[in-house]
Amino acid sequence: MSGAHTKKTEAKVKAILTDATKCIGCERCVQACVRQNKLPEDYPARFKADDGLSGARYTSIREIPGRESGTSRFVRRQCMHCEDPTCAAACLVGALVKRPDGPVHYDADMCIGCRYCMLACPFMIPRYEYDRPLPYVQKCKMDETCRVDGGAPACTSACPTGATVFGLREDLIKEAKRRIAERPDLYKDHIWGEHEFGGTSVIYISDNDLGEVLRIPSAEEFAKRAVPTLTHDSVPHLMHNWVMVTPFQFFTVGAGLAGAAFLRRRSRVMEEEAAEKAARDSVNKKEGEA
Ligand code: SF4
Ligand code: SF4
Ligand code: SF4
Repeated sequence: MSGAHTKKTEAKVKAILTDATKCIGCERCVQACVRQNKLPEDYPARFKADDGLSGARYTSIREIPGRESGTSRFVRRQCMHCEDPTCAAACLVGALVKRPDGPVHYDADMCIGCRYCMLACPFMIPRYEYDRPLPYVQKCKMDETCRVDGGAPACTSACPTGATVFGLREDLIKEAKRRIAERPDLYKDHIWGEHEFGGTSVIYISDNDLGEVLRIPSAEEFAKRAVPTLTHDSVPHLMHNWVMVTPFQFFTVGAGLAGAAFLRRRSRVMEEEAAEKAARDSVNKKEGEA
């Protein structure tokens, strides 16, 4: 977790650029990941979310409508390896850590299985091995355990079209901008992950909107939300601001509730006192009459 939740500026951050216009949906990246990580047979479809990820699949290919009617685009899903990851901020024991060279590392030995990371991730990425006696959280690693010849992960090395490539984040952003500038008629002028939620180490370009499939709200959708600045702010950064005001909210709300309870209690005591006095007066009156 980045202590002050400041945006990272390291020049050596590794990243993956996926270009949806080049993906043919062959799923060789998925199969390479399965082989490299020795992943077990996948869960039956009825036990999986519709994005294809599971405790046994760290990457998947989603089919979305293409720009032309009747066509399709294929988009790879995986952990976005956020620059300021919400999963790491939510983890009570520091089992998820953003490494300076890019990957968000998960330490299974430290994990206590609370699954706060799964609730916290804005991209809904981490999955749990619900069927195992000793389950762990699972997600894409993008670290040295994935890397094959030339130092790239097995998934990007397996891609036959260069749709998904590995490199330095700053170089890949330059490459994405170059492709967009070269073919403005083809690409949307947007790099998904360059800025959203504080930026990610897995970035995308496409000729069609990827917001829905990547679970990244558009700038317009962000603007409609209660926190319009969310577009470029990481969630931990925003949470930090909440945490700063939370003690005051706690004491204010707590004092309010205590005050209300005191008033209710005082009113009941006064009612009881009035009833007691009326009963006493009634008895005294009867005794006087007798
Ligand atoms: S995509 Fe989710 S799981 Fe991956 S680093 Fe970001 S917050 Fe963590
Ligand atoms: S980076 Fe590693 S874990 Fe992630 S999809 Fe590629 S091979 Fe799988
Ligand atoms: S290997 Fe490349 S072309 Fe095939 S599905 Fe994966 S990203 Fe797309």
